[in-house]
Amino acid sequence: MPTIERSAIMRAVKSRGNASTEGRMVSILRGARLTGWRRHLQIVGTPDFVFPAARVAVMVHGCFWHGCPRHYRSPCDNSVYWSAKIARNIARDKLTRARLRRDGWAVLTFWEHDLKREDVVVRRLRRALGRGVTKTL
Ligand SMILES: [Zn+2]
Repeated sequence: MPTIERSAIMRAVKSRGNASTEGRMVSILRGARLTGWRRHLQIVGTPDFVFPAARVAVMVHGCFWHGCPRHYRSPCDNSVYWSAKIARNIARDKLTRARLRRDGWAVLTFWEHDLKREDVVVRRLRRALGRGVTKTL
């Protein structure tokens, strides 16, 4: 497949992926009446969601794009390309987590598949937020 065509497809896939996982997280946060979060705050690594007062960063990872150990399957076409790309994403995620923690952030990572268990997500968030100053509800 020509490079230009492939990158157009990737952009389409990527924006859909982000919309579904981040949109799902937004609805979980709203449903649980959790407040004090911002999206894409310009701190190191630009995590998907940040609770600045509680100093909690939340990363939401699409199972494909971030190489979920349970669900990632390399596509048959261009598998070398994809393996390298996903490996870079995994390495970047790891570095981002380490840098955030070094800066004093608690970092929660949720996989796309975790978001199906809303109760579990909310419990993990509340536990992390409970350590900080934010008191919700
Ligand atoms: Zn998964």
